[in-house]
Amino acid sequence: MVKALKFGGTSMANAESIGKVRDIIVGDAEARYVVVSAPGKREPSDTKVTDMLISLYKENTVNGKKRIFDAIVKRFDDITAELGANVDLAADYAEIYEHSVGENASYDYIVSRGEYLSAKVLAALIGYEFVDAAEIVRFGADGRLDAELTRSLASDRLRVAYKAVVPGFYGTDAAGNIKAFSRGGSDISGAIVAEAVGARVYENWTDVDGFMVCDPRVVKNPKLIEMVTYRELRELAYMGASVLHPEAVFPVNKSGIPINIRNTFNPSAKGTMIVCYEDLENGKFTRENNVITGIAGKKDFVGIFIQKEMMNSEIGFVKTIMDILCENRLRLEHLPTGIDTVTLILDTAGVSDDVLENAVMQIRERCEPDTIEVHKGLSLIAVVGHGMSNTKGTASRVCGSLYKADVNIRMIDQGSSEMNIIIAVENEDYARSICALYSEFIG
Ligand code: ASP
Repeated sequence: MVKALKFGGTSMANAESIGKVRDIIVGDAEARYVVVSAPGKREPSDTKVTDMLISLYKENTVNGKKRIFDAIVKRFDDITAELGANVDLAADYAEIYEHSVGENASYDYIVSRGEYLSAKVLAALIGYEFVDAAEIVRFGADGRLDAELTRSLASDRLRVAYKAVVPGFYGTDAAGNIKAFSRGGSDISGAIVAEAVGARVYENWTDVDGFMVCDPRVVKNPKLIEMVTYRELRELAYMGASVLHPEAVFPVNKSGIPINIRNTFNPSAKGTMIVCYEDLENGKFTRENNVITGIAGKKDFVGIFIQKEMMNSEIGFVKTIMDILCENRLRLEHLPTGIDTVTLILDTAGVSDDVLENAVMQIRERCEPDTIEVHKGLSLIAVVGHGMSNTKGTASRVCGSLYKADVNIRMIDQGSSEMNIIIAVENEDYARSICALYSEFIG
């Protein structure tokens, strides 16, 4: 059995943390394929190597470039010296500097070098083969990952590498130029490698024990989620709970490989397992029978409450509204309807008041509603769990606990999947609502 392990920026930040990474790998016979991020922050005020590389690329003056470049070199030299890693990076340093100046300069190449160097250092330290991501990750002409080609390149190459360290975060385009993923993209690289080698599990090592049931800034010391399905995670992550790059789950989800979020700084903790729903159903994985797996939420939505008598018999009423939203490029999150009412819950982050006002004016003109009311400052809260689909009374508990907490529910929506109840409350009731739901369902 084989595992793929990905270590994030805090795990790779300095010699001490990389020492922990080494111990985790050498203590696990299954740990044969490793993907790494660039060194991240050593303390909160520190700068990630990836951000230093971005500054290197952007800096215009020769002196400024030299200063940043020297600082990057020092970070790697300190790491290799302290760890006693037998690796010579001089030629790589020279090439990086060359590619940061003049006509040779390439943004994607430069930002990806943190991962490249980090993987070289770790490979030398633990005696694994260094496999360049440029050989195995391929982007298509549309700039997106060519998943099929990547799968075959990666599995062919990694099959002949018994134990390998691969840099995360980048690959190449069809012309062979280095191309980087979006920030945090090493999670995707880890998933690619896990799938290519048919890993039993994709361990994603970070600096937290796993996913919490809800935001620890709202509820003090919330419980850890021991097991979550990909579908539940999608709902929770969409509503703001984030540990993983959102695209990282697709390659492994499809092949049914579980992801295990682990903590490099607390390796005895089991972390959070992310599994396919089907594997819960067929008994491959089991978990405590909780109704709710997690609670997540986001603030600052806008609600537009529309009422028109006999709306239900007017063909195309909602379509006209949708056209107006599309024309104004407004993102619709929820659309609960009544007999003669429709509510639009919009995510207006980055949208100017003018655009919103224009859309409302057009709805007034083209749909002629009896009333239209705009309400800013709404929060959406998602209560998520497959457990609710065969449990009576979940919605009643949601409403009851919010009633007891003196919260007015502005909207409630339960999708057909029956694994998610979404409620809208006023921003000022947001934290109180989450605390009430947490104590109702989790205790
Ligand atoms: N180093 C990159 C970043 O800081 C990629 C990653 O760590 O996943 O975003």
